[in-house]
Amino acid sequence: MQGSQPVAERPRRPEWMRVRAPRADSRYFEVRQLIHGAGLHTICEEARCPNIAECWGRGTATFQILGDTCTRACRYCYVHSGTPGPVDPLEPLRLAQAAAQMELDHVVVTSVDRDDVPDRGAGHYAATIRALRARVPSATIEVLTPDFLGVEEQALRTVLAERPDVFNHNIETVRRLHRRMRGAKASYDGALALLRRAGELAPAPLLTKSGIIVGLGETNDEVVETMRDLRRAGVDVVTIGQYLQPSAKHVRIDRWVHPDEFRWLGEQGEALGFGSVFAGPLVRSSYRADEQRAAAASAAH
Ligand code: SF4
Repeated sequence: MQGSQPVAERPRRPEWMRVRAPRADSRYFEVRQLIHGAGLHTICEEARCPNIAECWGRGTATFQILGDTCTRACRYCYVHSGTPGPVDPLEPLRLAQAAAQMELDHVVVTSVDRDDVPDRGAGHYAATIRALRARVPSATIEVLTPDFLGVEEQALRTVLAERPDVFNHNIETVRRLHRRMRGAKASYDGALALLRRAGELAPAPLLTKSGIIVGLGETNDEVVETMRDLRRAGVDVVTIGQYLQPSAKHVRIDRWVHPDEFRWLGEQGEALGFGSVFAGPLVRSSYRADEQRAAAASAAH
């Protein structure tokens, strides 16, 4: 197995991190026009995701609700941080309309953190799921939520009452680095507790899912330990992908994780019993989320 390459020794992106430009004959431009025309945000754009040409090209995207401004400031995240505007009550309807026009059969909804609103945005998640169920009833729905700091139990009950198919909450990094990367408000054990509780409270079959970013200074053994913690919390699906520094202000990349190491991490995850493990340089939490859900659902049967 080939090992990691420290970025200090190899500052340029290795060949396995190269991505395609949008193709004129794909659905990229149609998706872009639809999303912008509807006044919606996507994490694909807000986080400068490297897969945007591929995902939008195949007609998929990950919607970001509750605005474009986050009340947290994680050191690796490009999403704008500051004081957000009011929550837009019509956003769920526009989102559901866009999902219908895109003919999505699996809709992924995430959001910024909204520590400024009393329910942390849980009610808006619930309204979005209801709007999607009404407009695209055959679609499966995945929510990738923030930690709902301080109102976790009530927020989970509110969201899960609408019966999403997948509940995703990213642990993001290993225990040792969690506070340094995510700040004092976020908690490694809190993320695990949220995932475990989601599984316990779900009134209908629910897949739980989480994601890990590598290249922030962790070791592969720590990544395996994090996967072990996620499995103990009952998590069904895990994603592991390479960190890319989105701007000079963000934390520097520590290492390029080699594709062989991603394969090894994937094998470790499978051995731990996840229903689906997506590990690869360009894997993101929502990357080919439809396929991740299908793989985990068939493993469950
Ligand atoms: S991986 Fe997720 S965030 Fe990135 S472009 Fe695809 S859907 Fe969007």
